Amino acid sequence: MCPNCRDKLCKVVEQPDGRLVCECGRHSWPNAAVYGEACRKASLTVGKTVHTWTQSF
Ligand SMILES: [Zn+2]
Ligand SMILES: [Zn+2]
Repeated sequence: MCPNCRDKLCKVVEQPDGRLVCECGRHSWPNAAVYGEACRKASLTVGKTVHTWTQSF
């Protein structure tokens, strides 16, 4: 799930070139490592609410 789209659940899809782009197209990451870091930061910021999806991804 996209860590930046908090108003709704937005899937992140991997492009053929390795980029990750969120479903609505508002956010993208150059690779999985950068995306993982973004998720980690987002979960730290939000704290208690985001645990479930970070584990399931
Ligand atoms: Zn997004
Ligand atoms: Zn989105």
